[in-house]
Amino acid sequence: MGIFSVLVDAPAHSGLVGALDYTSEAVLQPGQLVRVPLGRREVLGVVWDASSSSDLQPESLREAKWICPDLPPLNTPWRRLIQFTAQYYQRSPGEVALQALPPQLRTLQAEQLQRRLNKLQKALPKPVDHGVTAWAPEPTPEQASVLAQLAQPTAKGHTHLLFGSTGSGKTEVYLRRMQEVLASDDQAQTLIMVPEINLTPQLEARVRDRFEPLYGAGCVVSMHSGMTPTQRLNAWLAAHWGRARIVLGTRLAVFASLPGLRLIVVDEEHDPSYKQQEGARYSARDLAVYRGHLEGIEVILGSATPSLESWFQSRPASEADPGGRYVRLAMPSRVGESVLPEIRCVDMRLMPKGTLFTPLLLDAMRERIDRGEQVMVLLNRRGWAPVLMCADCDWKSQCPQCSTYRVFHREDRTLRCHHCGLTHRVPRHCPGCGNLDLGWQGRGTEQLQAFLEQWFAQDAHPSGRSYGVMRMDADSTRLKGSLERQLSQVHAGEVDVLVGTQMIAKGHDFRRMGMVVVADPDGALFSSDFRAPERLFSLLLQAAGRAGRAAREPGAPPAQVWIQTRQPDHALFAALRRHDFPGFAAQQLQERLMAGMPPFTHQALVRAEARQLNDALAFLNAAREQGLDANNEHITLYPPVPMAMQKVANAERAQMLVESNHRAALQHFLALWAHTLYATRQQHRSVLRWAVDIDPQGI
Ligand code: ADP
Ligand code: ZN
Ligand code: ZN
Repeated sequence: MGIFSVLVDAPAHSGLVGALDYTSEAVLQPGQLVRVPLGRREVLGVVWDASSSSDLQPESLREAKWICPDLPPLNTPWRRLIQFTAQYYQRSPGEVALQALPPQLRTLQAEQLQRRLNKLQKALPKPVDHGVTAWAPEPTPEQASVLAQLAQPTAKGHTHLLFGSTGSGKTEVYLRRMQEVLASDDQAQTLIMVPEINLTPQLEARVRDRFEPLYGAGCVVSMHSGMTPTQRLNAWLAAHWGRARIVLGTRLAVFASLPGLRLIVVDEEHDPSYKQQEGARYSARDLAVYRGHLEGIEVILGSATPSLESWFQSRPASEADPGGRYVRLAMPSRVGESVLPEIRCVDMRLMPKGTLFTPLLLDAMRERIDRGEQVMVLLNRRGWAPVLMCADCDWKSQCPQCSTYRVFHREDRTLRCHHCGLTHRVPRHCPGCGNLDLGWQGRGTEQLQAFLEQWFAQDAHPSGRSYGVMRMDADSTRLKGSLERQLSQVHAGEVDVLVGTQMIAKGHDFRRMGMVVVADPDGALFSSDFRAPERLFSLLLQAAGRAGRAAREPGAPPAQVWIQTRQPDHALFAALRRHDFPGFAAQQLQERLMAGMPPFTHQALVRAEARQLNDALAFLNAAREQGLDANNEHITLYPPVPMAMQKVANAERAQMLVESNHRAALQHFLALWAHTLYATRQQHRSVLRWAVDIDPQGI
């Protein structure tokens, strides 16, 4: 009988932080999946250490059982990735490991799993037919140069930042590089990560079209949270067994078991959705880089608007500075005949308050459409208006549970809180004074859609048909399949004007989009979050990137972006008009350096929620006192403050910022302090929830 330590799903702070000891008749390998008794339950576990010398007597230990002998163990780099993630993000390794596995593994009986494996075995992809090659365009000179640099080992290591304009052909570079890597070794696997798969069904099709002719059906698997448990398990098994050669997934795919992993691509690496916002709050982008380092393989981070962290990390060397750890590769031009759109600001200070679109802009839109082009209108706010209000008394559609307003949705006549989900019918009369005439403040996508429908209904298209206005946002795409349907309507040209939130700005290869209108971006200019300008620049440049992607007919006006703003002279817009990401980034980095903010400092946030704000603050203050006593010269512990959105779903929220110039010092401090936090929490029973967020994305 041997003794083995096994990881089980135990959240950090539950007291069970490390691995637990079990016995087994069979010799277990590290990384093997087992089923073990835990209390009165039987749970899935991962063998962590094969030769544990327990303090406990073997007789007192319970027995671990193999879940399925045919399933190979999880390999060493995978286990080290889990270990690192747990340590870095202050969670238990058991929680991270078990969360990284497909949920169905927990519930499936051994025989069921065996049947699944047998089926997978039979459904082997057809042997590679060397005669077949997928069609792929000839690389442009910029693409060829980037590919040559990727193929050349560099002294800097293996992480590259591919900084390529929208439409410069980054995806084509990923596909080619993946193809080279896969061809070099018939066990090789590649991982390509995207922010949201559903948003870009085009990409999935492109990957399949490229690789299925080479490696057979089943060589590409997807991994994302929208899949059924069965689909997820099958995809996971295919990757774990080396059957799948390409994994295309969202952030959770960074933990896929890939024994033959040779290349990781992180597309749109700047996208905030790579950061997990609950449980272990990991950054899949950062973990991808770390995983590349662990496996000794190539990583490509790609974006037209890289995160300032990655941009800084890829700075070239100079006399005074050895440069960053990543290699920066640039593709400034668009593919073929298409050119970047012209960006202009429309000064809304000259317009009456409440103007949705200037008359000039409306005419320009129609002109475009009459030429056979499409127009996109971006407004990052859904619903009809953010506030419903009474002009007679002070009543506003405040959410009773949150420190925000419920949004007026006219389509289904509801007031909905976008933070806690609370939904009510729109009242017939003012709840404050009975006034029948309720008004609203501000605008949302529904309102723009209705306005444009009405405006375009005044005339018919020169061909006699009527104009098509469509809205795409989280509301219009709630039903399964509706997102795909809406996107294909746009691609098919059934839509003249596409109104929507940021989801229309991301990644789509709309061929006929000649004009992008940004309806009202100013709110983000005044946000208290220091990352807001970075986010806005990126959103607007991505949106601009949807325009003019195809070659234009001779004599056709250039594709255009119109930004309606009351701050036309703002430096952010000036850089945007020049398509000057490097200029914008340099200015932002300078500000961050002066203000001592990331990437020049490292941050962690401790957040706490309680029914009363003072309870949340008291807990954080107590934790802070003890942290200050620990006297770490490299650490700054800021006093706790209420969060900008102080109340959500009846919980009052506060946070405390921890900062250091040294990542290692911060890590060291947090590891020690974790015990204090846990113990302090025991004395502050009124705290509902608390969490530590390392490298937080929003402050
Ligand atoms: P990005 O990912 O940088 O936005 P894509 O890879 O989607 O750019 O390329 C933009 C468009 O150009 C796509 O329609 C793509 O098929 C096409 N394209 C990419 N590379 C080439 C090439 N070398 N030759 C011709 N067309 C290309
Ligand atoms: Zn009233
Ligand atoms: Zn609410």
